[in-house]
Amino acid sequence: MSEGAVITNLHEVRRQIAEAARAAGRTAESIALIAVTKTVDCQAVQWALAAGQQDFGENRVQELVHKSGALPAVCRWHLIGHLQRNKVRAALRTGAVIHSVDSAELLDRIAHIAAEEACRPRVLIQVNVSGEATKSGATPESALPLAERALQLPVVVLAGFMTMAPLEADRDARQGVFRTLRELRDEAQRRFGAPLPELSMGMSGDFREAIAEGATMVRIGTAIFSGRSGPAPA
Ligand SMILES: *Cc1c(COP(=O)(O)O)cnc(C)c1O
Repeated sequence: MSEGAVITNLHEVRRQIAEAARAAGRTAESIALIAVTKTVDCQAVQWALAAGQQDFGENRVQELVHKSGALPAVCRWHLIGHLQRNKVRAALRTGAVIHSVDSAELLDRIAHIAAEEACRPRVLIQVNVSGEATKSGATPESALPLAERALQLPVVVLAGFMTMAPLEADRDARQGVFRTLRELRDEAQRRFGAPLPELSMGMSGDFREAIAEGATMVRIGTAIFSGRSGPAPA
């Protein structure tokens, strides 16, 4: 992995995001690129930062704490992996957006700690749309009650929803998962009369399909930080 490769990959990913946005009749600015740094060290994050990237995602709290402490404060952090109860305080202290709220217990814990820490975290509800046993996330049925509960907690800001599509599924099936999340979000907005603008969906292999379905945050690691000179072909 070299600085040149990171820069080249970042430009290519941004170009493909803009292209997918255009195809969907959207603007590139309506989609935030979150560079997922879970496989790389701080040096590679610095290279991306120097190339103008400011949103970064980590899936483990320990690594999030380490990197957010070591890197410049202009970085905006996103916790995209499962959050254990006993790590909520550490996660909130980084100021990260929490993409992985998947139960009322975790939500209440976040609210409790946020009140103690006098912070107001932005959170997303992670939904296991495909129902895969190996994936975390709330069931689609429990997602709306969970959203309602989050909207009643003044100490958290519910920004929207997050999902992961099954990697082994074909493109149409993945796009179907993203569409289901958007419809769930639309239903929540209607029912609760609150804006829930963010849809965190799409990774290196499926961000085009996610953008077609309204993704506002794409979480991309491999296509930026792999040693290859460009992202996976479309
Ligand atoms: C690792 C990870 C990503 C990025 O996946 P790539 O295929 O490397 O782009 C996105 N979201 C979550 C939750 C992840 O754990």
